[in-house]
Amino acid sequence: MELNERKELAELLFPNIKHDRDYYEKMYPDRNLKEGAMITRFGPSPTGFVHMGSLFGAFCDSVFAKQSGGVFYLRIEDTDQKRSVENGVEGIFNDLEAFNIRPDESSVVGGNYGPYIQSERTEIYQTYVKDLIVNGYAYPCFMTEEEINEIRQEQELSKIKIGIYGSYAVDRDLSLEEIKEKLNKKEEYVIRLKSPGNSKNEVEIIDCIKGKMKFPEHDVDTVLLKKDGTPTYHLAHVVDDHLMHTTHVIRGDEWVASLPLHIQLFQILGFKMPNYAHTAPITKKDEGGIRKLSKRKDAEAKVSYYEEVGIPIDAVKLYLATILNSNFEEWYLNNSDKSIDDFTFTFDKMAIGGTLFDLDKLNNISKTYFSRKSGEDVFEETLEYAKKFDVEYSKLLVENKEKMIKFLNIEKDSTRPRKDISKYSDVKEEFSYAIDELFNKENYSKYEGSKKYSVSLIKNYVNDVLDLDVTNEEWFNDIKEFAVKNGYAATPKEYKQNPDNYKGHVGDICEALRVMITGRDKSPDLFSIMKILGKEAILLRINRYEKFLEK
Ligand code: GLU
Repeated sequence: MELNERKELAELLFPNIKHDRDYYEKMYPDRNLKEGAMITRFGPSPTGFVHMGSLFGAFCDSVFAKQSGGVFYLRIEDTDQKRSVENGVEGIFNDLEAFNIRPDESSVVGGNYGPYIQSERTEIYQTYVKDLIVNGYAYPCFMTEEEINEIRQEQELSKIKIGIYGSYAVDRDLSLEEIKEKLNKKEEYVIRLKSPGNSKNEVEIIDCIKGKMKFPEHDVDTVLLKKDGTPTYHLAHVVDDHLMHTTHVIRGDEWVASLPLHIQLFQILGFKMPNYAHTAPITKKDEGGIRKLSKRKDAEAKVSYYEEVGIPIDAVKLYLATILNSNFEEWYLNNSDKSIDDFTFTFDKMAIGGTLFDLDKLNNISKTYFSRKSGEDVFEETLEYAKKFDVEYSKLLVENKEKMIKFLNIEKDSTRPRKDISKYSDVKEEFSYAIDELFNKENYSKYEGSKKYSVSLIKNYVNDVLDLDVTNEEWFNDIKEFAVKNGYAATPKEYKQNPDNYKGHVGDICEALRVMITGRDKSPDLFSIMKILGKEAILLRINRYEKFLEK
């Protein structure tokens, strides 16, 4: 077809498209950011809640843009109606907000490069496709579903590449007259790329994460506009990333296979290519194997999971940072006064293969996160959590606020603060001895049928020796003295040397005291706990333990 015919065809196919490319090029000028500033985007389809894997993507987008003084925007990719669900867009905004991931531009906060919803940009895509028709890089294809299916079956049988290309692209060279005839007969059509590629040639691209990749050139006449005139993902993202001036397309590596097509689209449209960074999928260990984290099977794939179990969002983000860059965790552990914002993320420290999502590791990092928080903050946040998920406990927390904060602050000043809490719901269990109203016989139930500690010995100690107004050192000296007087060794070592000479050692007395007072064999510093509880409460606990033994 000659140029004038192609022009006629373009008008025939797009009578309502009045603007040309230049109009949009002017409308969306360069962003004029400083050298090195990255423009990233999160392009979810409104398929309901944001899966942890996509959230990881959004997190990458936001940190790379932020640390480089760039822009991170959100574009809703709703061109595939089959994948869209009702309230899907709302779900995306809610989940991002829950994670404090705030795009600089979106359909909600606005921006100069909108609309930020692809279904509102149809005219723009059609303008560029109209231009491709004029330039001979696109054509209307009238093939029916049946014809295409037959071709696919044939290709599958002969084990050759699937798609409409070469001799299968029967409508590629229709004359203007033939096309007009079909249009008059109201035959349905899609617009296909008239691929200039040859699969014998190679294309090369350097991916920011995966490095150099080589592919055969794309030679399939892929659909650009569907029957209803809406674009496919391939066309839409290329046009949008160009007009919105994306510098780095960070997306899941399931898109690597279509990269040769995308490269070709950038070339024939005369656009500058953005950088691509294809991220490895988030995986999980399951029954000995490793599989992708699944929206359907894994509770932790949902953002709402973290709120429900009480893992702070900032801790989850720290975990995302550890899977984003392999050197982050060590840095975080060594820099107790720093936050994610102080770290510079790089593409070369990103995983090339799968990224394992490990809840145990998440819990560990969350423990470190909690250990760096003041007792006051842990109290306030736990209270907020309890108000939503454990109302009874929230009331008790309010009544016992001062005492509770003191418990939460035990050993906080040390260089190695305790790492006992990974989620708000742990506080009730880890500090089960803190609130008297919650302490009863049940707290000893795990000692059922096991070793019985001597109540009279501990009562004597508390009544005759325990002084809560002394230093930790004095307290320990006193208990040692008491131990020796009662036939116990002053140190475990002495006991081990001559076990027959003693009933036990001072550690056994501390253990008995700890179990009676806290209902646990491990706890933060025992003397600090006793000081906060006071003698009266201590004696009450010992009586309770006695009753538990009598039962
Ligand atoms: N809409 C695409 C998806 O949901 C996004 C891919 C991209 O970020 O380019 O998979």
